[in-house]
Amino acid sequence: MDLNYTPEELAFADEVRQWVRANLPPETRERVLHHKRLGKEEQVEWQRRLHAHGWGAPRWPKEYGGPGWNSVQQHLFDEVLSEEGAPQALPFGLSMIGPVLMAFGSQKQKDYYLPRILRQDDWWCQGFSEPGSGSDLASLRMKAELDGDEWVLNGQKTWTTLGQYANMIFLLARTDPAAKKQQGISMLLADMSTPGITIRPIITIDGEHEVNEVFFDNVRVPKDHIVGAPGMGWSYAKFLLSHERTNIARIGRSKSELTRLKKIATEETVDGVPLIQTPGFREKIAAVEIELMALELTNLRMIAAERAGQAPGAEANMLKIKGSEIQQTLTELMMEAVGPYALPFNPEAREPGWHGEPIGPEYAAPLGPDYFNYRKVTIYGGSNEIQRNILAKAVLGL
Ligand SMILES: Cc1cc2nc3c(=O)[nH]c(=O)nc-3n(C[C@H](O)[C@H](O)[C@H](O)COP(=O)(O)OP(=O)(O)OC[C@H]3O[C@@H](n4cnc5c(N)ncnc54)[C@H](O)[C@@H]3O)c2cc1C
Repeated sequence: MDLNYTPEELAFADEVRQWVRANLPPETRERVLHHKRLGKEEQVEWQRRLHAHGWGAPRWPKEYGGPGWNSVQQHLFDEVLSEEGAPQALPFGLSMIGPVLMAFGSQKQKDYYLPRILRQDDWWCQGFSEPGSGSDLASLRMKAELDGDEWVLNGQKTWTTLGQYANMIFLLARTDPAAKKQQGISMLLADMSTPGITIRPIITIDGEHEVNEVFFDNVRVPKDHIVGAPGMGWSYAKFLLSHERTNIARIGRSKSELTRLKKIATEETVDGVPLIQTPGFREKIAAVEIELMALELTNLRMIAAERAGQAPGAEANMLKIKGSEIQQTLTELMMEAVGPYALPFNPEAREPGWHGEPIGPEYAAPLGPDYFNYRKVTIYGGSNEIQRNILAKAVLGL
């Protein structure tokens, strides 16, 4: 197994870097690198620039508008974009419903929605979880009943990430209440402006509006808004989640966060000594760096296996567990590094263009909110306990 990059691969990374430096708006870069709030417009604008250059969907096959890159190129692309401060691509269209439509959607759905995902004409959100149906998703209660040429939807979704910006939702609903739990579920698409849909914010512990509740009260959607066959929604959802989990490790992002941690630990001092030079803290940084290197090697191992024609196995679950734990550790160490300056809650400081008096060093304001926000990463995309259950079954045969 060869884990080194070839000269061609390194040249590719360099080409991506040069292009990003020339095309990423400096204000967007500043916001990403300094953890300021990023608006919908900047996210959309960046996706459109990437798409205009042919890089809008790095993981999509050429036939649907992807660049046709292999997994090494995809990995390098992610890494360079993170290093350069580009916004993280939104997963809902590109990594979730897009691949599902490619595999199971009708020709009409593919022709209509896939180009719109590339240009980000639609902002998709994911309507899977319900109150009481998260890990045990198959117990979901949302109903879809066929009435003439329309499905009538009734029920509630929750934790709908960035649903406040979305104009489209893909969701799971029970279309056959008599069938066995998993078999009566279908996947449907709905326009968020359809009468009967109400969205309410959930404010998370960091004070931000990132997730929502979505209510469906006699919502009528056209019959052809079903994906694939009725009753097959569960297997499409499993296909979708396997895509969600591989992208969730965010190795590139953690590498740039590690650099940020080291910068902070260089600025912060204890009795005049930079924190990074104190044995205790140095050891903590080294420990997380080693974990991250190991995770990257696991990822490269997976890529090398893919290159040799083998299908990915339980590695996706491992990447999810380790990737999320590392992301959390990094937020913990940054907060520890600034000590009491992480305590003041100052949401305005995250607004771009805020020129107030910072409490403590300028980099301290987002550290507390980031720490709290990142509690989510071991929960979403299938909680880490559930991932461990899957590994126990698939790898250990328990
Ligand atoms: C910030 C955030 C964003 C999200 N975004 C979306 C979204 O956009 N769309 C969407 O559909 N969903 C979204 N989710 C929902 C997410 O998928 C669920 O929260 C997750 O699947 C866990 O479900 P739950 O919250 O119902 O917790 P529960 O399933 O009630 O779990 C509670 C605890 O029990 C543990 N547990 C449960 N069952 C088992 C078991 N069998 N063995 C061992 N431990 C177990 C869990 O690990 C967890 O620690 C989001 C969640 C968060 C926090």
